[in-house]
Amino acid sequence: MKKICIICKNLKDENEFNEEHIFPESIGNKELKIYRVCKECNEKRLSKIDASLTNHKLIETRRLMYKIPGKKGIIPNPFENGVLESDPEQKVKLSFDNQNRVKIYNIPKISKPIQNKENKRIDITIDNKDKNNLQDIINKKLNRMGASELYREEEQIIEKHPNTIHNLTIDNKQYKKAIIKIAYELGFYFLGEKYLKDRVGEFLRLFLMDDLNEWSNCDLGHIDFIDKEDNRLYITLVNLLKIKKYEHLAFIFIVDQKIHIIIRIFDLIDALIIISKEPDLYRIPEKDLIIIDSRSGEVEKYKFSQKVTNKNKATI
Ligand SMILES: [Zn+2]
Repeated sequence: MKKICIICKNLKDENEFNEEHIFPESIGNKELKIYRVCKECNEKRLSKIDASLTNHKLIETRRLMYKIPGKKGIIPNPFENGVLESDPEQKVKLSFDNQNRVKIYNIPKISKPIQNKENKRIDITIDNKDKNNLQDIINKKLNRMGASELYREEEQIIEKHPNTIHNLTIDNKQYKKAIIKIAYELGFYFLGEKYLKDRVGEFLRLFLMDDLNEWSNCDLGHIDFIDKEDNRLYITLVNLLKIKKYEHLAFIFIVDQKIHIIIRIFDLIDALIIISKEPDLYRIPEKDLIIIDSRSGEVEKYKFSQKVTNKNKATI
């Protein structure tokens, strides 16, 4: 049986399709999927669009915190390349332990040999964790220098809780396309086959097909990093639903004869997008709210109004 790919709109054989995760798998969505994107669109176009979100440095901080691996099983570390504030020559790597406490690892630093009258000196700085490997590190260096004798002079602990500096380049544009992809696919997921003829839906689809187009916040809604200070809608929603930092959210609703979708990614990105201006053509499904636990990848679907009353009952 042939079906239409919702991205390129070509009619293709069943076996030319594969599963498409609406929220990317690499931000912790295992279950919310559609089977209406052809392999070609999925592998060429969408994986690139998804990557602008999943490899975003701020998103990577959460993936590191909640231990969410990518397709190859690797958990990203945006703090891989840092230096000590007190010693910009000293490279460090940050990670989180099981209690989400920050751990700093000093990458071993070995100075060039410093020659004085009687002898050569090298300075070695290592992380406390490497203490037991110090002899190995020294021997390796001595071998390379062709030296055999060793006088160990001093050992000193420099700083216990140093400040570190990391340069993160934060993308401000590309990731928005990934959010539009989620919104468009949610449109299809919630509204079904008819959505492929929607005028706003078509606008969103063409936006995804265009490599050059940049999303600027317009009359179809906004996509932004969450600024908790002035984002009332976000605060209201999070308080009402008791959303956790590691949860993603999607919510579909009609206001002013327009179908809106709210998308939240972790506690970082917040979007409100109009996905249709023809609400009379559709029936919004009873379960209009989706919450994804990024740590387990599990997806829960709710009726928004029920979730709100249940949550509030529970807290009274
Ligand atoms: Zn396609």
